[in-house]
Amino acid sequence: MGAAIGDIVGAAVEAESPEYIASKFHSVDEILATESIPEFAGPSWRVGRFTDDTQMMLGVAEWLLEDHSHSPEKLLERFANTFEPWRRYGSGTEAILRQFPDHRDQWQALSTAMFPYGSYGNGSAMRVAPIGLVFANDMKKAAEVAIASSRPTHSHPLAYQGAVLQTIAVATAATSAEFLSQNFISPMRTALTRFSDLLQDTSPFVQALDAIENGLGKATSCREMSSILGTGVTAQEAVPMAIYCFLRHPESFEQVIHEAVFIGGDTDTVACMAGAISGAFLGVDVIPPRSLSQIKEERYSASAIRNLADDLFDEYAD
Ligand SMILES: [Mg+2]
Repeated sequence: MGAAIGDIVGAAVEAESPEYIASKFHSVDEILATESIPEFAGPSWRVGRFTDDTQMMLGVAEWLLEDHSHSPEKLLERFANTFEPWRRYGSGTEAILRQFPDHRDQWQALSTAMFPYGSYGNGSAMRVAPIGLVFANDMKKAAEVAIASSRPTHSHPLAYQGAVLQTIAVATAATSAEFLSQNFISPMRTALTRFSDLLQDTSPFVQALDAIENGLGKATSCREMSSILGTGVTAQEAVPMAIYCFLRHPESFEQVIHEAVFIGGDTDTVACMAGAISGAFLGVDVIPPRSLSQIKEERYSASAIRNLADDLFDEYAD
């Protein structure tokens, strides 16, 4: 639910600069109170709709419910079945989803069709929240399933690393009663060593975690931190930025969403990921009802998302 709200708020100002956003809006509530936003091309964006981030995250949740083997191919099939182009998918993912129905047996080759080494966009990290929730007590399994969920569309090692770090952040948030930033950062560093043992380059995320620790030590603002970590569409920029927004403001869901959106850039995805972590840590009751009432979706109303989360809990609770 936290991810959905972050996505909805961020979608209204996606790819804009912080200066532009500040010139148009003063608060998250002001954004949510807006009816629609003119698009560069095509019909206006209706505020209250979520984008590809939440659409695919809900796909991951349903995949976890139905496929206990966690097959990447089954997940891709689900993404293709629920593909709605107006939700602003990344170009690589959109190409894969459009081609999949006619090339089912080549689904692995599709993941490298546009980017020869696979995409390292943030598009797989943005949808892993349900994996962090259901495997919150088993980091190894959580990482394994996060990688499986990334494979169909984001098969570059940096995308895997980003998806795993976001999963760990959500898992840690869901199982932590008290806040200690080291409880989040230590398991992330441990997870990265598994990738470096495979001779993968983990330096972008290692350096980002160093910068995050440094920033927390100096109480650096999210805005200032965004010039160091970046707010772009790559996993190695968006994931650390989202994690920082949460770690800097662990006590306030509303502050996390505000920071993640007003720093500009890939706002829907950074706010989606930051909102997922904050929501997992603080619980659904911290999300203001006035924000939930702004969800303008037919299939996935706020109560439908809640029911899906409950089903997932029942399915994996033991
Ligand atoms: Mg999006």
